[in-house]
Order: sequence, then structure tokens, then C-alpha cells
Amino acid sequence: MSRTVYLNGEYLPETEAKVSIFDRAFLMADGVYEVTSVLGGKLIDFAGHARRLERSLAELDIKKPAAFGDLLEIHRKLVDLNDISEGLIYLQVTRGAPGDRDFAFPDPETTEPTLVLFTQNKPGLSDNPVAKKGIKVISIDDIRWGRRDIKTVQLLYPSMGKMMARKAGADDAWMVEDGFVTEGTSNNAYIVKDGKIITRNLGTDILHGITRAAVLACAREAQMAVEERPFSIDEAREADEAFLTSASAFVMPVVEIDGASVGTGTPGPVAARLREIYLAESLKAAL
Ligand code: PLP
Repeated sequence: MSRTVYLNGEYLPETEAKVSIFDRAFLMADGVYEVTSVLGGKLIDFAGHARRLERSLAELDIKKPAAFGDLLEIHRKLVDLNDISEGLIYLQVTRGAPGDRDFAFPDPETTEPTLVLFTQNKPGLSDNPVAKKGIKVISIDDIRWGRRDIKTVQLLYPSMGKMMARKAGADDAWMVEDGFVTEGTSNNAYIVKDGKIITRNLGTDILHGITRAAVLACAREAQMAVEERPFSIDEAREADEAFLTSASAFVMPVVEIDGASVGTGTPGPVAARLREIYLAESLKAAL
């Protein structure tokens, strides 16, 4: 069945939604995005994603699309039209299509941003059997640009990282800069030592994960100790547990790093508990 997608004010069959070859995201990766999960037909952490989108746009001086105030309604309508019970909604805003290629930004008075949303149906997203087994990661150099706090569509290196992981028989890659883990290709990274949850502090070197914020709030609420500071791959390999968070993976245990088992080599109790609490809490607050 063909999806109904949203493009610049219209709900269209996916085959009819067309974007110009002069769109700045196509030519320059000049765009930002968000991914919001859907559970029980409702949106998880919508307000956080909308806030981060607004910040990404402001940091890059991209005009807010005219429909910015209708984003919740557009998300909900796409969930309805595509009958999504569990899945994801992808949203992208680009600097628009000025009608030619030029490094300089087009005049925002005459070039409207492009706004695209589409759904990805993923039945079983919350009850993912992988979470019971955990995943394997490798470490790779972090050679991305310096503004990783902005959620841009420049995803070539993260895509290459996933392929390096796959080639090495692993599931994902954690990136390392100056000896410390920054984050995963599409997730935030954590270790647990002596009951304490350790994750890199926020800055321009990592994406400020919406799931990260929610999971750390859950952890603190449950009286779990949290320390926000960088950690190395060696420290991670010596940890009791490791895990990652993202809007699509929620809380996912990591059981192997660069071929060595973390802790017992099976998902640990802290990650399992956080996954359970996060899913329950975010479902309660879902829109
Ligand atoms: N870090 C990076 C580089 C990401 O691409 C993502 C998600 O796509 C995350 C972290 C996790 O962010 P969120 O929890 O908002 O999905």
C-alpha cells in the first residue's frame, strides 16, 4: 500500500510528492530533520522534537516553515492516514529551492523552506527482540563537523560508520574523538559502572538527544546516580554495562565493544530497567 506523505501543505501519495533538483538539501545537505516515534498510535516526546527542530533552524538561519505551528496536527494526520500503530515519523526542513545552484544562501523573502514528512510503519518497535539480546558496536574515529548539536541531514559519515560496523560483524559504531566517545552513528552512548550511569555531557560535539533527556530524567526520578562526562573506549570495555538511546531504539543494551564483551556479555539490569521505565513514562505522556 502506498503511503500518504506531506509536502509543503499537501497530503499526497508518496509517488506524487516531488522536490526540485535545486533544493538546497539535495545540492548542499542544507537541511535539518527530526524523527519522532509512534507507539499506540501516539507521538512520543513530540514537544522535545519540535523544540529541537526550532533550535536547529535558528542555528542555521533557516526560516521556519509557514506550517510550523501545525506540526502536531500534521504528524497526527499522517499517523491516521497511514494507520500507524507503531513506527516513526520523519520530518525534514530544507532552506528551499531557489531555482539555481549557489553557495550563498537564497533570500528568505523569495525562497520558502521545503517541509516534508513521511511515516515509517514498524510494527513491534517497542517489543523489539533485539533489546533482549543487546547489540555489538565497534569504535571508529569521529571525523564529522563541529556542530553536531544541530540535527542536519549531513549523514554520509554516520552511514559509512554503520557500513563499517556491518562489515566488522557488528550493529553500530561509536565515534571517538581525542580519546573519548562522542556518540553512536544515530544514538547517544552510555556506560554503567558500580550502579552509576555515565554519559557524555552536552556540548556542540554531540546531538542533544531527546530520548537522552527523557531517559536521564527517568533515571534521576528513580534515584539512580547519573554522571555527565566523557568516557573512553577502554573505560567502556571495563564497565558493568553499556547502552544507547535514540527515538527509534529507545534504550538499547550494548553487549560487545570492538569484539570484547561488556560485563557479562548480556543486557544488564540498569539498561533493562531504564527501557521499561522510559517506555511506560513516555507512553503516559504521548500525544
Ligand atoms: N546522536 C545522533 C548522532 C543521532 O543521529 C541521534 C538520533 O538520530 C541521536 C544521538 C539520538 O537522538 P534522539 O534521542 O533525539 O533520537
